[in-house]
Amino acid sequence: MQFVHQSWRTRVVFGAGRRAQIAAEVRELGLSRVLVICTPGRKSLGDAIGAHLGSAAVAVHAAAQMHVPVESVDEALALAARARVDGYVAVGGGSATGLAKAMALRVDLPYVALPSTYAGSEMTPIWGISENGEKRTGSDERVLPRVVVYDPELTCTLPLPVSAASGLNAIAHAVEALYAPDRSPLVSLLATEGIRALSGALPAIAESPSDLIARSRAMYGSWLCGICLGATTMSLHHQLCHILGGSFGLPHAQTHAVVLPYVVAFNDAAAPEALSALVTALGEDEPAAALQSLGRNLAGASALQALGLRRQDVDTLVDLALQKPYANPRVVSGETLRQLLLAAWKGAPVDPRRPGRPQTPASA
Ligand code: NAD
Repeated sequence: MQFVHQSWRTRVVFGAGRRAQIAAEVRELGLSRVLVICTPGRKSLGDAIGAHLGSAAVAVHAAAQMHVPVESVDEALALAARARVDGYVAVGGGSATGLAKAMALRVDLPYVALPSTYAGSEMTPIWGISENGEKRTGSDERVLPRVVVYDPELTCTLPLPVSAASGLNAIAHAVEALYAPDRSPLVSLLATEGIRALSGALPAIAESPSDLIARSRAMYGSWLCGICLGATTMSLHHQLCHILGGSFGLPHAQTHAVVLPYVVAFNDAAAPEALSALVTALGEDEPAAALQSLGRNLAGASALQALGLRRQDVDTLVDLALQKPYANPRVVSGETLRQLLLAAWKGAPVDPRRPGRPQTPASA
């Protein structure tokens, strides 16, 4: 056995109601003039956190946007400089965390993250900034939050389709960690447990969106899946979603929910250990179909065309993906990728009788 495993320095505080600890965490970091960052949709939550921080919060900046346009980073940094802030508090999903990361990359100030979705960005050193129709990404330890406060109560307001799509976004991190070239035994354990927790919690959330036990399980799963994302190199699925978001403007979490089953079906014969871990984690013998039914039934995510991708964009997407190939367990050719993307564009059911499909216990 040989592996390398990288852990990060972030402190994690987890539990319902734990947002009440944000002021203490900010104080503990020695911060006295923080900028609270959120999306326009989370402004009331940002304001509530600002009020909780009292004089330690100098302003609430409710202008974070998905995929972090460079202009939004410039604007937030200008405000931070004017207000002479000494740190940030990012409140919300991956968009708020993404803005804090991009700011920390340019002006290295500490920040606290208070996630309200299952995206998992807060556990990774990966940053992304969109400019001129392209999303640049990189990895830098400076963009990690010093503290993450996970409060599952915050996710109770996430509508079911958003919860499910966001949960599938997190599951996608763990799926690709299971066959990552730089996975470690610890990552595989975390990935399996993360997928188990989230896939079990999402149907319970569908039954009762304010079920705090299910919400806690989902957030716990998203934490584990975020660690997997931050510790490994992602493959074809993340590459496709990255291009679909960065170059075609598709919504992040829903795109993950649509694409994941097709990539799982594409890769399963080439990644038998990952397939077996997925069967265990999902408790289903056909993981690709199980993920597709979670996406369709809970997230309402079925086809890329419904998310705004045009048929003619598929060929451009294939070209872009082949220009900078990612690691992937199965070799990706132009024709196989085109077929995968056309199926995802149409929303075709993943085929349990596809050629090369490996046998799982029930199908053997
Ligand atoms: P998001 O942060 O854009 O949130 C989606 C929408 O949901 C927003 O309108 C937001 O205001 C709203 N919202 C958030 N929390 C809510 C709540 N609790 N209740 C009701 N509404 C709520 O979306 P996201 O999917 O969390 O994040 C997507 C972004 O994160 C993308 O830009 C993606 O690239 C990035 N991301 C980065 C990483 C990384 O490691 N760098 C990982 C995952 C995602």
